[in-house]
Amino acid sequence: IFITVEGPEGAGKTSVLQKIGQELIRQGLNIVLTREPGGIRIAEQIREVILNKENTEMDERTEALLYAASRRQHLVEKVIPALEKGDIVLCDRFVDSSLAYQGYGRNIGMDEVWSINQFATNGIMPDMTIYFDVDIERGLNRIAKNDQREVNRLDLETLDFHKRVQEGFDLLLKKFPDRFVKIDANEDFEKVYEHALELIKKLLLE
Ligand code: C5P
Ligand code: MG
Repeated sequence: IFITVEGPEGAGKTSVLQKIGQELIRQGLNIVLTREPGGIRIAEQIREVILNKENTEMDERTEALLYAASRRQHLVEKVIPALEKGDIVLCDRFVDSSLAYQGYGRNIGMDEVWSINQFATNGIMPDMTIYFDVDIERGLNRIAKNDQREVNRLDLETLDFHKRVQEGFDLLLKKFPDRFVKIDANEDFEKVYEHALELIKKLLLE
């Protein structure tokens, strides 16, 4: 079973997923907790290139291709073998981030970004995607409290860009109603955690 979490900056995806992973492992399930871009050595190296804020000259299609490249390596090396073993894969971001950030946010077009990702994934998609919906200002405030380095990097983007990314996720929610579930990530950590855990447990019982 393949589950992804998505959403804009400061939605709490990473910390919630961490706690869910721990809880499910405690319950005896075989869990692979991973993230994109990254999760394995080559993909983490690509992540450093993409997220290096000195790389301001990076073309937006190059950026989209690098995300897709890191995605493919991560799938081949880690996600697919885990799914084949029957493990539950919990992944922080996946194709939907590329559609929302590069496709919609950067205006490349969701269809164009979709097609390079088909090449990268051979059509592998998650069974469920939990969309952490957070007000952009609130998310950015959370980051400002926790992580000054992230603040510096994110300062390169406008508020308008982040709002477009959010709009992109909202469109994906409508486009993929069978696998997308939205949760209110404006709530406190515990509440968001409980809600996300409940959704995952429900899927596992199906
Ligand atoms: O998930 P995490 O916050 O670690 O992601 C790192 C950064 O990568 C995010 O701040 C986001 O701006 C960026 N990103 C992106 N396009 C993607 C995936 C992530 O711009 N497709
Ligand atoms: Mg995160």
